[in-house]
Amino acid sequence: TTAPTARSTTASDALFDRARAVTPGGVNSPVRAFNAVGGTPRFITSAHGAWLTDVDGNEYVDLVCSWGPMLLGHAHPEVVAAVQAAVARGTSYGTPTEGEVTLVEEIVARTPVERLRLVSSGTEATMSAIRLARGFTGRDVVVKFAGCYHGHVDSLLAAAGSGLTTFSIPGTPGVPASSTELTLVLPYNDREAVAAAFAEHGDRIACLITEAAPGNMGVVPPAPGFNQFLAETCRAHGALFISDEVMTGFRVSRSGQWGTDGAVEGWTPDLMTFGKVMGGGLPAAAFGGRADVMHHLAPEGPVYQAGTLSGNPIATAAGLATLRLATDEVYAHLGAVADTLRPAVADAFAAAGVPHVIQSTGSMFSVFLTDRPVTDYAEAQRTDSAAYGAFFHAMLDRGVHLPPSAYEAWFLSAAHDDRAVQAVLDALPDAARAAAAA
Ligand code: PMP
Repeated sequence: TTAPTARSTTASDALFDRARAVTPGGVNSPVRAFNAVGGTPRFITSAHGAWLTDVDGNEYVDLVCSWGPMLLGHAHPEVVAAVQAAVARGTSYGTPTEGEVTLVEEIVARTPVERLRLVSSGTEATMSAIRLARGFTGRDVVVKFAGCYHGHVDSLLAAAGSGLTTFSIPGTPGVPASSTELTLVLPYNDREAVAAAFAEHGDRIACLITEAAPGNMGVVPPAPGFNQFLAETCRAHGALFISDEVMTGFRVSRSGQWGTDGAVEGWTPDLMTFGKVMGGGLPAAAFGGRADVMHHLAPEGPVYQAGTLSGNPIATAAGLATLRLATDEVYAHLGAVADTLRPAVADAFAAAGVPHVIQSTGSMFSVFLTDRPVTDYAEAQRTDSAAYGAFFHAMLDRGVHLPPSAYEAWFLSAAHDDRAVQAVLDALPDAARAAAAA
């Protein structure tokens, strides 16, 4: 075990003060504010490979990887070169480009989608997929699962109603009841709830959207066959099955979660959404799927969707370079690093006497500080957030930047080499003891 390094945060503190004076919470996306763990978020000035450097000159092993996109690690030379070359040719044209076609071809080759449309964020992708599903089916009701996050789409910021087949209430002020009254929120991994909802409302359901493997309540893998069951239930009722692979796509396998379930079991989603890795750290995302469904999208069909910066040439260059470098060796490496870290995390908590459960899909994993497996959002909420906060800060003090929330996946990259892994292993025992003391 190591003694904590003295880590000044003077410069981050000062920037956080400046930021809070002009931006709500001082951040441009809420989880960055460290609200769940307390303390000052580190203002990062640069990142290379597996390492972040903050404004005070501290270095951290990065286990957030920009919340997923940085599959190759930071500032990969070939990605940087592709971006620099693209920038030098101009930043946006508002016309079609060859780079967009090539990126879409790469995604079509890796996944079961037949047609794909590029957008700029995961939120846009899921919002557009739902609009298309409603336009295609002529139905209005959307089914989602509690604990699954699909971006800040009004109709998906819904909290469960009072019963399993009752419609939802807004999950945040600012979303009108009319935006969520057509959304059904069900418990994850619960086949009976899905069957009951479709039995009661099946002929009104346009689509069911699910994270391919939830990572936004911590990692809660689908029970074996659950996604296939969802696909079959949707088909039986004429609803579309939307698999949200914004987080898992091109991360948990060459294609994503589908590569480990649908590709093996022989089913395909009607629509899929992607983001994060496919943009290589720049804003690019996509939705796509069955050609006959995508055919309903403007300008071929009547369902409207558009974007000034969609298919942006710099973002597509970064995404394409990233995907081309995401070889089988990269996925094997991520798997090997995860296989080293998971048992080490478990051993550290066991030695410290802290109840814990580690759950994963592919190399994406998270730790729940609770005493039994987590299959849905209600179970996830039993995790000990205070203990996680103590663990988080002890890791940060020892140079490891974990996600600043107990409900987030840990992300690895191809750049997590032996030195980075060792730094994590060295920090774990003391940090687990800090969790025990919390
Ligand atoms: N879907 C999933 C599964 C996500 O994890 C996220 C973002 N964490 C989104 C959609 C929204 O993507 P974005 O933040 O790019 O809007």
